[in-house]
Amino acid sequence: MSKDTCIVWFRRDLRLHDNPAWNAAVKSGCKIIPLFIHSPSEEGKWRAGAASNWWLHHALQDLSNQLACYGLTLTLRSSDTAIAALTALTQEIPVKAIYWNRCYEEQSIKRDTLIKETLSNDGISVRSFNGNLLFDPLEITNKSGSPYKVFTPFWKSCLTLVIPRPETITFQQAETSPHYCLKSDELDSFSLLPKIPWDSEMKEFWEPTRSGAKKLLKQAIAKSTHYQDLRDIPSDDGTSRLSPYLHFGQISPAEFHHEVLTRCTVKDTAQNGILRQLFWREFSAHLLYHFPHTHDQPLRDEYQNFPWNFDTDLLEKWQRGQTGYPIVDAGMRQLWKTGWMHNRVRMVASSFLVKHLLQPWQEGAHWFWVTLVDADLANNTQGWQWIGGCGADASPYFRVFNPILQSKKFDPTAAYIKKWIPELSEVPAKLIHAPWEMEPLELAAAGVKLGTDYPKPIIGHQEGRKQALDAYSKFKSSL
Ligand SMILES: Cc1cc2nc3c(=O)[nH]c(=O)nc-3n(C[C@H](O)[C@H](O)[C@H](O)COP(=O)(O)OP(=O)(O)OC[C@H]3O[C@@H](n4cnc5c(N)ncnc54)[C@H](O)[C@@H]3O)c2cc1C
Repeated sequence: MSKDTCIVWFRRDLRLHDNPAWNAAVKSGCKIIPLFIHSPSEEGKWRAGAASNWWLHHALQDLSNQLACYGLTLTLRSSDTAIAALTALTQEIPVKAIYWNRCYEEQSIKRDTLIKETLSNDGISVRSFNGNLLFDPLEITNKSGSPYKVFTPFWKSCLTLVIPRPETITFQQAETSPHYCLKSDELDSFSLLPKIPWDSEMKEFWEPTRSGAKKLLKQAIAKSTHYQDLRDIPSDDGTSRLSPYLHFGQISPAEFHHEVLTRCTVKDTAQNGILRQLFWREFSAHLLYHFPHTHDQPLRDEYQNFPWNFDTDLLEKWQRGQTGYPIVDAGMRQLWKTGWMHNRVRMVASSFLVKHLLQPWQEGAHWFWVTLVDADLANNTQGWQWIGGCGADASPYFRVFNPILQSKKFDPTAAYIKKWIPELSEVPAKLIHAPWEMEPLELAAAGVKLGTDYPKPIIGHQEGRKQALDAYSKFKSSL
């Protein structure tokens, strides 16, 4: 008798290791159809940007190669909606069950609820799992049963729970390969790669595959003893750079946690610096799940009326890395060229936009969304609202990052600035953080004409700081 067939619907879990949906399908003994549906029109306002799409293309190619090792083909379908693709597929072949790992954004929940209902009514068993977070956002509440809004108690509460261990199961090709000849779209037909080749530096900077994730994880473990000392130095590569792999699910948070904990010298999750960051990821997901409107509205409602001073010219200069503040510009150029920016510089650059330039945090969040390879609705929202002072556990608005001091402190040798701003490569490190303060002779010796080779600052630091504080006090008095 022929075996039943099931679908594993891959979404943001593009891996076969520690993938609960995949594991359950294998354990069911059914023939498995691995499926990915590309339905960008369903993504609405948060349609993936070019950098994310670039990553997705390579991650899908890699997943497809991994499945091919077991004689399986990743079925690709392009559709206006996932429900249309799934309904069509289940009409083509008899399907007993469908498995997927949950995504926790409001839009995904709505979509999946409808799909679950429709397929269940058709007699198909629908099973969903948590494969993208350590804990389901519903699992963690404070003593009064409400969601947390402050990181430390959230983190402490997580530490009282059993952190899931990764589970990877083996399966045999003969048992899983389906006998159907299913139509699959070509990956290229998704048009995820750029039409003009702007991705040469991305290719150099990243290996967007499972094997790339494993290499970075190994390096992160090797460096983890010095994580706290190095994590803020953007030139030092002291952080893991695993964020895009975590976002696309090429590595699971449970695997990350388990590997770090068992292989590095700090054996206590609570004391381990890099593992603490993983809980910021959990916290962001927790916040967005419980406060779904915050992707474009402030968590602190009163900030709806903050007196921003929207100015497309300023915004564009910031986006292009032309503010005249080297640390900000280096970060924005790193982002443009590689699709990633170091966390410390993300903080400095985003603070500069919302405080010195008084631009709405939503504009910055949107630019990050379209340019980051790790663009993640929960983490991006939390990062911007933290900086904008309007989110949970946020840095207060009146705390204005000083981009010059930040630059001196975290890039003292200017290695990071010089890497991304070659026109300042001859400027001595001690002068580079505020080039407008250099003497004409010093500028000439470094071969820099300010305003020609590199911009003059678009706003003075004191002026920007005052503008931010004035806007804040005006806002406070209007409450
Ligand atoms: C304005 C702003 C926007 C941001 N947008 C995003 C985004 O779209 N996507 C994204 O993944 N991160 C975002 N972050 C958080 C953080 O900058 C990145 O996760 C981090 O730089 C990734 O580098 P890493 O993998 O080397 O981190 P590591 O230091 O190696 O940390 C390990 C993992 O922990 C998680 N993590 C680390 N820091 C944070 C944090 N502050 N918040 C949430 N999770 C964290 C990431 O998944 C990361 O891969 C943003 C931060 C700011 C200030």
